[in-house]
Amino acid sequence: MHSTNTVIDLRNPSNRHVLPRIALIINNAIDLGNRDRLQTNDISKKIQQTQRDLDKLKTLVDKAEYIKKDGYMKNRLINIRDNMSTISQILCDDTVRLSYSIGNTEKAINKMLVDYQLPNESVAGILRDLQALVAGNDFEDIYWDWKSKCLSICTTSINLTSLFDDIFDIGPILITIDKDMIIQRLSNRDNGYTLEPMEPYLDSSEQYFHPHISDSNRLCEGDGKAILTNALRQKRFLDFLTILNNILHTYASEAAYRSLEDWERFQCPGCGDFIDGDDCYHCTECGTDLCSGCIDACAECGDLFCSDHIYACYSCGTYTCCDCYHENNNQDILCSNCWQDELEEQRNEQEKQEE
Ligand SMILES: [Zn+2]
Ligand SMILES: [Zn+2]
Ligand SMILES: [Zn+2]
Ligand SMILES: [Zn+2]
Repeated sequence: MHSTNTVIDLRNPSNRHVLPRIALIINNAIDLGNRDRLQTNDISKKIQQTQRDLDKLKTLVDKAEYIKKDGYMKNRLINIRDNMSTISQILCDDTVRLSYSIGNTEKAINKMLVDYQLPNESVAGILRDLQALVAGNDFEDIYWDWKSKCLSICTTSINLTSLFDDIFDIGPILITIDKDMIIQRLSNRDNGYTLEPMEPYLDSSEQYFHPHISDSNRLCEGDGKAILTNALRQKRFLDFLTILNNILHTYASEAAYRSLEDWERFQCPGCGDFIDGDDCYHCTECGTDLCSGCIDACAECGDLFCSDHIYACYSCGTYTCCDCYHENNNQDILCSNCWQDELEEQRNEQEKQEE
């Protein structure tokens, strides 16, 4: 993503002259995000009110329909109710479209206004935060990309302690923030930053690099969610980063997407249990890894199979794999013994008939 020629190292004192420009961009994004939220909330309230009004009307019609025993009146009322459902749907679709258009127009106007705005006190506050950030030791590398206008801040290496007191060094994590992400966060649409592991220590499924970051790369902020949003809304940018950093450096077993206690254990796709590597077996047919409880041995060839590739004999229940089973005319699955028995029975019957 980053093309090297547009990325500058903000730790380098000779690059600090760009900090006022970054502060202005962050400030404008926060202003846009805050206004965007007001706009969206306003319109969604109106939609909800209209929906409630329609629901009230529907209830009235339902009542009237109940009273009228007369078939003709009843049908007319049913028609009215159907019409109202249609109105409700049209209203909903159109209002959503309308709110998008209004939102976009307002964003365009605001953008025009902020482009001509001179730095104000809140920009100065963000600038002070940025200066403290690049001078402080809470984070490692800090970069600014002129091209994508995004700020990349690398945390220190993250050490988390499991319930068993094992320490997991999951490496540093790169936090990336740009103006669109800030606007998204403030209008409650996204976290407002992306996270990327720099020296990942992945879990056994290789889908997680942090216990509180989902496999779709989203941090569960827990109780910190509202605090983070407020910090950003109030333009306390350094507070925002500090709280985020603290969340990344903290482990709570019960709230984890992937717990450290099971980090290196293997999850059986059959039962979902976490098990140690030496209890892992794989299906001879498809290679799926399963725990000893979820894998079965074929009674004939002795090989191991997953439940998709081994079948219980219809007659005696013996497990027979997809290579060893037999099928009779009724499409029952049989083991070799029961299959032989059935063949013999058929032969005997044939002989009887011939006699
Ligand atoms: Zn299992
Ligand atoms: Zn299989
Ligand atoms: Zn077999
Ligand atoms: Zn059998």
